[in-house]
Amino acid sequence: MMGATTRRARRRSGRQDTRMDWADTPEQAAFRAEVREAFVDGIPAYYRERAARGLDSDWGQDRRSGDAERENAANSWTDALFEHGWFAPHLPKEYGGAGMSPMEQFIFTQERAAAGAPQVGANGLALLAPTLIVHGTDEQKAQYLPGILNGEKLWAQGYSEPGAGSDLAGLQTRATRDGDEWVINGQKIWTSSAHVADSIFALVRTDPNAPKHRGISFVLIEDIHTPGLSIRPLVNMGWEHGFNETFFEDVRIPAENVLGEVNRGWYVGMTLLDFERSNIAGAISAKRRLDILQEFLHSEQGKATTRVSPVTRTEIADRYIESDVGFNFSFRIISMQDRGLIPNYEASMTKLFLSEVTQDVARTAVHCFGLYANLWDEDDERSPARAFFTRRYVLDIPGTIAAGSSEIQRNIIATRGLGLPRS
Ligand SMILES: Cc1cc2nc3c(=O)[nH]c(=O)nc-3n(C[C@H](O)[C@H](O)[C@H](O)COP(=O)(O)OP(=O)(O)OC[C@H]3O[C@@H](n4cnc5c(N)ncnc54)[C@H](O)[C@@H]3O)c2cc1C
Repeated sequence: MMGATTRRARRRSGRQDTRMDWADTPEQAAFRAEVREAFVDGIPAYYRERAARGLDSDWGQDRRSGDAERENAANSWTDALFEHGWFAPHLPKEYGGAGMSPMEQFIFTQERAAAGAPQVGANGLALLAPTLIVHGTDEQKAQYLPGILNGEKLWAQGYSEPGAGSDLAGLQTRATRDGDEWVINGQKIWTSSAHVADSIFALVRTDPNAPKHRGISFVLIEDIHTPGLSIRPLVNMGWEHGFNETFFEDVRIPAENVLGEVNRGWYVGMTLLDFERSNIAGAISAKRRLDILQEFLHSEQGKATTRVSPVTRTEIADRYIESDVGFNFSFRIISMQDRGLIPNYEASMTKLFLSEVTQDVARTAVHCFGLYANLWDEDDERSPARAFFTRRYVLDIPGTIAAGSSEIQRNIIATRGLGLPRS
């Protein structure tokens, strides 16, 4: 319990009050019930079945997959959201969003993730649209927001380069002004879903002589098939094609396609990274995976093929505790946002913790399966839980690298959270 003296001291020192309240208010409980009810029919069977097997789905890739079942699922899920006005929960109503408060977004995402439906809109809706609202001109908002908000335009994010990931400000892709156009040359890497995207936003260097954070601009390339722009697949070690290399050779875009001020793109880009930081879907998915593991261990196949030793039993219990802790980290972020505070190192703690828990869940499952964990083929009936955890063991590795590696998150926590010196 926090005493009155501590509270007074906190008020005096101006420190942010990060205590949280777990319970739904009556309004929040009513909203949760409404969302849950709508999802009963709204979530296509395809997604429910995948979720029951613990499989994640990618709405953008489903929508452009060329596979009728996947495309139908993505389209009906989109329609169901439109029917309720929930396609863009986080955007203000004046821009066509649902105008949900951070707490309502949390409830919505919690219920969506628990029911197994994917997030819609990809980078365009989650990242670019809120940034356009903050930094875009009226013309830019009118030009780009409708395509994002009707679900038709998919955007890729062109930030990372072969020599600039954690040290993003070291990026070298150049944009040079030529009359009323910018001419872009260089290379991006790890560009997720660029192969199914229509458009790409990118950070490019527009002043090579300025200090590195100051010579960067944020550009919008509406047509990802603009001459000179080429995309080469990168297949990950789970044999999935999720990201790409993106090359720019004399790619020309209109001068007005800069978002925010020229050479101030670093700050525009950083606004973008501030959105969706609670990672509540990650917390829910860790819990769901543990449920799947439990279910398998109790099944006939599980009992016959796995060995739950006192050590693995303890490991599973630890993972359950950690997934609950992760949930509360997420909840803390939302609780701060709901009170108008901006999470900082708290978001790093959540990202770091949940991405590592997710890997640990797969590792724990693999420990239970022994040699059966080597079976990769989901159709091999000897493979435990249809090889789900074996695949996750591999596929979850990038989670501690993407969106800021664990080391970078620790640096943020150490310097901004604990006030330790940078070096
Ligand atoms: C699945 C996935 C999807 C991605 N999607 C996109 C996308 O759509 N668009 C996009 O632009 N990028 C994307 N990325 C790239 C991602 O942002 C970078 O991988 C990430 O920022 C790390 O950069 P890097 O890979 O260049 O590693 P590096 O920065 O080269 O880091 C290598 C290692 O050094 C460590 N390290 C680096 N600097 C420090 C430091 N200062 N202190 C301590 N340790 C340090 C890192 O933690 C890491 O372990 C994606 C990555 C993944 C894995």
